Amino acid sequence: MLRLEGIHAGYGATTILHDVSLDVQAGEVVTIVGANGAGKTTTLRTIAGLIKPTAGRITFEGQDITRLPAHEVVDLGITLIPEGRQLFADMTVHENLLMGAYRAQARAKQKDTLDHVLSLFPRVRERLNQSAGSLSGGEQQMVAIARGMMARPRLLMFDEPSLGLAPIVVQQVFDVIDTIVKTGATVLIVEQNVFHTLKAADRGYVLENGEIVLSDSSDALLTNDHVRQAYLGI
Ligand code: ATP
Repeated sequence: MLRLEGIHAGYGATTILHDVSLDVQAGEVVTIVGANGAGKTTTLRTIAGLIKPTAGRITFEGQDITRLPAHEVVDLGITLIPEGRQLFADMTVHENLLMGAYRAQARAKQKDTLDHVLSLFPRVRERLNQSAGSLSGGEQQMVAIARGMMARPRLLMFDEPSLGLAPIVVQQVFDVIDTIVKTGATVLIVEQNVFHTLKAADRGYVLENGEIVLSDSSDALLTNDHVRQAYLGI
């Protein structure tokens, strides 16, 4: 479904990603794990069209999207749920959700999509008229995910969905991701919470200093010596 081949990307003269290649098949949950600053966010932003690679190629369902602007990437069915949630704090939950369907294609189906999304997020439905800034961190993450779903994505990318959340809330977030996967979506998650994300994913890539150093099934990575020592503290 998604394929990155030999991607180099960064900011100005600074190259952060070095020769990153990875793929995500339809229906899979794939994760990119790595430490702070490894380049995980940069990878997702590059796929989303927010950073232009200096070399390499990105294809989505066979189409070359390497140079597409971000709004066209959204139209093709790729949505990024950003780190730190980035909700509009003074707007209601309902208004935030509608912002997720701002592109013409999604807007045409807004009402049906909203019904579907709220059926997946009963807690969000209860808070529709509350301002987003008044929600707890966990609730805000749920709204950020629900807003991402409003674009009717086929590939949903999560940037550190568990960041700053209490352990019990982290579990709720991964439960929601699991529910979304069961609806047929394909998911790419980047995380520092290596244990939880490998438990949730089918396969994973380990990113270190902007390079993919390991790639395997999640089960194999969970028992890999390097992963256990560097990321699981075992
Ligand atoms: P984290 O978990 O801390 O978000 P990450 O793996 O997602 O880490 P990135 O955010 O992709 O890492 O950052 C990779 C490197 O790129 C870091 O060294 C960071 O300082 C640098 N970087 C990120 N954003 C910018 C920017 N806008 N301009 C310049 N350098 C940046």
